[in-house]
Amino acid sequence: MRGSLGAPRILLRKLRELMAEPINPQERLDKIVEQIATNVVAEVCSVYVLRDDNVLELAATVGLKREAVHQTSLKVGEGLVGLIASEARCLNLPNAQSHPAFAYKPETGEEMFNAFLGVPILRAGRILGVLVVQNKAHRTYQEDEVEILQTTAMIIAEMIAAGGLERLLKPGSSLDVKRPMQLKGVGLGEGVGLGHVVLHEPRIVVSALIADDVPREANRLDTAIEKLRLSVDALLSRSELDQVGEHRDVLEAYRMFAYDRGWVRKMEEAVKNGLTAEAAVEKVQSDTRARMLRQTDPYLRERLHDFDALANRLIRELMGRPHGPMAGELPKDAVIVARNMGAADLFDYDRDRIKGLVLEEGAPTSHISIVARSMGIPVVGQVEGVVSLVETGDSIIVDGESGAVHLRPAPDVESAFAEKVRFRARKQAQYRRLKSRPSITKDGHHVQLLLNSGLFLDLPHLEESGASGIGLFRTELQFMVATAFPRIGEQEALYARVLESAGGKPVTFRSLDIGGDKVLPYAQRLEEEENPAMGWRAIRIGLDRPGLLRIQVRALLKAAAGRELRLMFPMVADISEFERAQALVEREKNFLKRLDYELPETIKLGVMIEVPSLLFQLDELFGKVHFASVGSNDLFQFAYASDRGNTRMTGRYDAMSLSFLRVLKLIQDKANEHHVPLTLCGELSGRPLEAMALIALGYRSLSMSSSSVGPVKTMLLELDVAKLRARLLPRLEPGRPNEDIRAMLRTFAEEQGVPVQP
Ligand code: PEP
Ligand code: MG
Repeated sequence: MRGSLGAPRILLRKLRELMAEPINPQERLDKIVEQIATNVVAEVCSVYVLRDDNVLELAATVGLKREAVHQTSLKVGEGLVGLIASEARCLNLPNAQSHPAFAYKPETGEEMFNAFLGVPILRAGRILGVLVVQNKAHRTYQEDEVEILQTTAMIIAEMIAAGGLERLLKPGSSLDVKRPMQLKGVGLGEGVGLGHVVLHEPRIVVSALIADDVPREANRLDTAIEKLRLSVDALLSRSELDQVGEHRDVLEAYRMFAYDRGWVRKMEEAVKNGLTAEAAVEKVQSDTRARMLRQTDPYLRERLHDFDALANRLIRELMGRPHGPMAGELPKDAVIVARNMGAADLFDYDRDRIKGLVLEEGAPTSHISIVARSMGIPVVGQVEGVVSLVETGDSIIVDGESGAVHLRPAPDVESAFAEKVRFRARKQAQYRRLKSRPSITKDGHHVQLLLNSGLFLDLPHLEESGASGIGLFRTELQFMVATAFPRIGEQEALYARVLESAGGKPVTFRSLDIGGDKVLPYAQRLEEEENPAMGWRAIRIGLDRPGLLRIQVRALLKAAAGRELRLMFPMVADISEFERAQALVEREKNFLKRLDYELPETIKLGVMIEVPSLLFQLDELFGKVHFASVGSNDLFQFAYASDRGNTRMTGRYDAMSLSFLRVLKLIQDKANEHHVPLTLCGELSGRPLEAMALIALGYRSLSMSSSSVGPVKTMLLELDVAKLRARLLPRLEPGRPNEDIRAMLRTFAEEQGVPVQP
């Protein structure tokens, strides 16, 4: 007998009525399978739901023996049903029993059925169960029949996700959507955060699945696709020069998908079968995701993100929602989950409500990590696939120390971490008690501990941490969070507030370090750059567009009236660049003097040492500057030709290796020779083990994020510098074998009882 899946719309209408009926979940599921079987003219229709122990449990059936419901189960990968779940694809077989994966379950009485059609029940690309129809006759189901079964599966997926089925399952088990999971990433911002998931780019929940008026839905879909294509075309052509590198690749991928006939045809098909336009987009998105998630090719996986973004855009278009992050109430304990984020995006959230950040990308010295750390947010990066594994509102734990992320944790895991949070709080209290202890090593060396900062909101940390000043004030952060160039008055006001709240402690401002990965959303890039990190950035922009730098310098001079102004320039590669910047400051000073403005009492100018060419001009450089600061993040990336934002490079080279330690020592030795104060303000300063090595090399001024001050001070109070120098320095002499210096440092710390845990 040939079954027919015709009249799909009638089936959908019936299902909608069933969803609205006030009946319990088991009855609803029973009626759903009956409806499907009747419409399909199938002798069997069964629903299997995926439990958290990776087992598919028969949850409802017509046609198989009723006693088998909640008794029969198959592991993922076992039998035909298990195969569908493990591969997220449908199986359409005229003779199921001859398939090698067929597993006979005598309690079901299914031996008399031959034809078999099973489809995965998917939501956002995740498997929630399997829907099966069977017939006695040998037959192959038609393509439109497969389609309608998939559509029905989507409705069952919503029902599973909405909850209520748990109570039906074998006692002690739970649905897979609620399964706890542990994911491994890389800790990028220390601390532990417990909270609930907030997707940075939320999936929109489509609640109206079934169409009232099919031609109208087809029309809506058409119009939305047309609009989508126009907007992608406009993005691409708006300014051909504006879109560079990776960004352009993404737009090209958007265009490719937007014009893809196969994609559009599948969505039209789903509408024809009775789904609303947005539900049709979601259905095809979910099917495509499930298939693409199984790809191992990184290029294709990357394209999945693009496809997802485009499909989300289309759904937004259809639902009349604006693009971009969705507004809405943030829970009090939000853990932001994103593929990646710009540093500025973080400021869209209320800091007090953010308990953690989880990224699929992210590297330790990328700016989002630096900004999150400066705000004291625990961060885990490089967590593969996390965005598709979470739902908004899921409970989640972020462990920035071990790099673990726990999704939907079991209560005992949650309480263990709550204990860890309390432990950290006690540790923080200990650090606070240390805050007025002078930061002097065991053998009497004073080491100045300073803060890296950049926004007004992290200034209270200066007092809380006991740091003796601000060693690096990244002025670009104010520019990055603004929607237009901050005017001179706004700049001056921020700098004055910073100096005011520092209460006489020294503050070192750094002139605008934009370009590279620090893009200002409102500033047009003029030309395409293949290597923006080595391109037109920082002091190079400042000197080529002196208007910008002049305004900033003027704002700083005015803000520091009557006080000391310390200003350094980033990315200086040649002394002449410093000299030109120095001349510009001089001109601005004279200009203000002529207008009778009060000037700073003293002006100290310095440079960041972060471009390797400066290493060969140190004698001349130290003859000209008042001070210098080592930007080890950039210096390391350029010395090793190893992109600081590229996650594949993370951990590949070690800053605690012979060559880099020699570089760091050279700079400090030269600074000593010329009596020029030197600070190190890269991320190395804030890590106790690395800071220990820096102190042994002679560094006496370290600038770091506020949360690092306590751990670094705890370390140095126990450090005997002379002993470590005796151990470390001979290893840096010429002709020594290249050994694992990090391991040596660890052993030293252990032997001497120097606490180097962050
Ligand atoms: C550095 O490069 O080490 C540095 C401190 O500056 P930024 O991280 O802002 O580039
Ligand atoms: Mg830098």
